[in-house]
Amino acid sequence: MAVKITVKDYMTYIELVTQKIQENKVYISELDAITGDGDHWANMNMGFGKLVENKTLLEGMTFNEMFKKIGQLIMSTVGGSSGVLYGSAYLRASKVIGENQVIDLELLSQILEAKLVAIMERGNAKPGFKTMIDALHPAVLNLQNALKEEKSDYDALQELKIGAIEGMNQTRDMEAVKGRACYQANKGVGHLDPGAVTMCYQLEVLVDFLCSRM
Ligand code: ADP
Ligand code: MG
Repeated sequence: MAVKITVKDYMTYIELVTQKIQENKVYISELDAITGDGDHWANMNMGFGKLVENKTLLEGMTFNEMFKKIGQLIMSTVGGSSGVLYGSAYLRASKVIGENQVIDLELLSQILEAKLVAIMERGNAKPGFKTMIDALHPAVLNLQNALKEEKSDYDALQELKIGAIEGMNQTRDMEAVKGRACYQANKGVGHLDPGAVTMCYQLEVLVDFLCSRM
């Protein structure tokens, strides 16, 4: 079956991500306490919590309006760098989606690429800097390659997920170039980047949600 995501589906996905974040409070807080200032879980939980609070409002919007509103809500709710970065990602995604009211896999690939580019530009960071980018970048590349190879939507989504997990795991050995971890004596080496972990959660939850309906 082919990927088809409506606005309502997208809010279900947001709720599933919120749940996943809530379940991992101790783990994510500890990771950011080691490599940063310990607030990444609270930031993500606050941001996604705000989206769920606004579920009825968001569900009544077009995708374009919804992505814009999600970007604004995250930016105004989340204080840390992740707030600005995710806010920018959603504002950029709203431009890519245009008037479309259903997201297929090709459009999903374009949306994820737009988010990646927005985060890289806003944070002035590249793959390999030990950030959230390191989970998103390989996921986008894997999805683009799978589309080129005309794999089934199911297989392409699995490739996306593999890319996110591998990318997240690679942050363990990376030295931080951006973000608070670069001020640590060992530049965070030996620990996963918390932002890469929560980015990976979002991509994993998306794939599992979409594949469970196929
Ligand atoms: P803060 O670092 O301001 O406390 P958070 O704790 O919410 O904000 O987010 C930290 C995460 O944000 C890091 O783990 C990293 O993945 C990501 N991050 C930080 N700076 C950048 C940047 N310049 N570019 C991309 N991602 C970044
Ligand atoms: Mg932090």
